[in-house]
Amino acid sequence: MARVFNFSAGPAVLPEEVLRSAAAEMLDYNGCGMSVMEMSHRSKVFQSILDDAEADLRDLMNIPSNYKVLFLQGGAYQQFAAVPMNLMQNKVADYIVTGQWAKKAWQEAKIYGQANAVASSADKNFSYIPDCSDLPISDNADYVYICQNNTIYGTTFHSLPNTKGKPLVADVSSCFLSEPVDVSKYGMIYGGAQKNIGPAGVVIAIIREDLIREDVLPGTPTMLRYKTHADNGSLFNTPPVYGIYICGKVFKWLKDMGGLEVMAQRNRDKAAILYDFLDNSKLFHGTVEKDSRSLMNVPFVTGNDEMDAKFVKAAEAAGFVNLKGHRTVGGMRASIYNAMPREGVEKLVDFMTAFEKKEG
Ligand SMILES: *Cc1c(COP(=O)(O)O)cnc(C)c1O
Repeated sequence: MARVFNFSAGPAVLPEEVLRSAAAEMLDYNGCGMSVMEMSHRSKVFQSILDDAEADLRDLMNIPSNYKVLFLQGGAYQQFAAVPMNLMQNKVADYIVTGQWAKKAWQEAKIYGQANAVASSADKNFSYIPDCSDLPISDNADYVYICQNNTIYGTTFHSLPNTKGKPLVADVSSCFLSEPVDVSKYGMIYGGAQKNIGPAGVVIAIIREDLIREDVLPGTPTMLRYKTHADNGSLFNTPPVYGIYICGKVFKWLKDMGGLEVMAQRNRDKAAILYDFLDNSKLFHGTVEKDSRSLMNVPFVTGNDEMDAKFVKAAEAAGFVNLKGHRTVGGMRASIYNAMPREGVEKLVDFMTAFEKKEG
């Protein structure tokens, strides 16, 4: 069996240790004679899987006790609607538009109220994070919304916007658990698991208790009310049991690795290998302004579409897969999430160096 180096943006690489451990438990989880896929979500066994997952996540992120952790479904996309439905009591929200996911969230919010774009980086194809230190935040804004790491464009907020006291809501799908965060600076943090945590089908939301409200917008479906899930410990209906189990294993793996400080250092080191190469290459170059660069998603181009395609093909043949850029951007993108080993990035850079020598 040969594992490739998988640079997919999502669903994405998972730690090999986690996959091996899940494989070993596939037919018989912990002596109960069945797979986690086959057990009742109301069983004691699953309850302890869920409780452990939440406790380990709280521990990793140092989540304050006045925040609820919810395990949801529907993808990050469903939250584009759930956020305004639950939080838009004044029907006003301010969005910082730094890429396609932020834009989609902003457009969805317009269905429910007045969603203002208070900053945008569309003028330079989303290749930077705008200055968010003094934005025209609306006096009656219910929240300020960001997509913290822009998966497609490879930009990230290295400092949080000044929300002038309004709750900050952040989509962290592609940077979840990549570095320590101060949860208390947010009203809500959410993300799909399939980028940096686990399999597709799980969305994790961390919400300050005062934002979990009864007075949601009229017509909000029961399933989209945060209160429904908070009141029922994420067991209102059948949750994605197997996905939660794998997420739980990844949390334990992260703890074994030393936690988020250690992961952040590892991620900085890994990203630096690739960015240093790009900064010095004659053939390849990055597309993002230096101080907005993501540690997770690294887009790059040669400036020639044919050469890009040739590179992607050659890389794939050599075992470096899913390097093609997003269909709307072109070029290449290496997603180097927590589970991508340093060796994968080093070997990719060796391969790019050799390709450049041959083609450059
Ligand atoms: C992938 C992604 C999404 C969409 O996630 P789905 O689970 O497919 O709905 C939203 N936001 C960000 C930042 C993403 O990277």
